[in-house]
Amino acid sequence: EERDRLAKSSGPGRTADDHPVKLLLNIGSAADLRPGAEGVGLFRTEFLFLDRKQAPSFEEQVTAYAEVFARAEMVVVRTLDAGTDKPLPFLGLPPEPNPALGIRGLRVDRVLPDVLDTQLDAIAEAARATGADAWVMAPMVTTPAEAAAFARRARARGLTRVGAMVEVPAAALLADRLLTEVDFLSIGTNDLSQYTFAADRQHPGLADLLDPWQPALLKLIASCAEAGRAAGKPVGVCGEAAGDPQLAPVLVGLGVTSLSMAAVCVPSVREELSQHTLEDCRKLAARSR
Ligand code: PEP
Ligand code: MG
Repeated sequence: EERDRLAKSSGPGRTADDHPVKLLLNIGSAADLRPGAEGVGLFRTEFLFLDRKQAPSFEEQVTAYAEVFARAEMVVVRTLDAGTDKPLPFLGLPPEPNPALGIRGLRVDRVLPDVLDTQLDAIAEAARATGADAWVMAPMVTTPAEAAAFARRARARGLTRVGAMVEVPAAALLADRLLTEVDFLSIGTNDLSQYTFAADRQHPGLADLLDPWQPALLKLIASCAEAGRAAGKPVGVCGEAAGDPQLAPVLVGLGVTSLSMAAVCVPSVREELSQHTLEDCRKLAARSR
């Protein structure tokens, strides 16, 4: 029994009846890597770009991505999520009255396409150099056309696992159409809550609206997961909600196929999932909406 418990404390995440749920890490750099997860579900690449007067070079980016690729089984790299709320001096973007609703995430590509081109070149080169299972996704995708354009750019460089983050309600509502363009979806619940509830994600007075148990959020997650099931493609959650052990069985019951979280959350999420059958998870999910 002890051995059984140990086996269940690492390796793939599973429900009590052995339904697999990928447990992945959110990282900001190679320094955040820890053993015990199946890979990286969200590699935030902003760290390379912050506090600089010039964009990081192609070579510098290759080195940083390869360092992570060499040490993890699979890695989902998120392309730069910057904008006027996380201003990058070298982007030279003008201040905006509503930064959260302005040129941020993938939208930076509208004004500065070179940034994404160089980043995709560097991710593709690092993947080639390491032979890694490299996945790439864009933040703040809003329409199927944006997903298609991003996928075209990534695939032109030989990247074969291309995805979109779902952080905007418009994207969640058309998840089925996004999935005709990309290979997977990753739901960023931090921003999806912010935009669904019209509530600044940093606002301490609005915590009740930003609670990931909100039925409207869970309904959007459910419809993305359903679209993924219909398309036979993975749909994960990578916002803070994915690291909440009580919520994990609900998300799995809604049909989510992976949970990506800070390393400290992995053991408790793994333990909680191992206590519920998939049928239990579905019942919890049905009750939560
Ligand atoms: C999210 O919005 O949920 C997310 C994972 O991205 P970030 O927190 O980096 O905006
Ligand atoms: Mg986000």
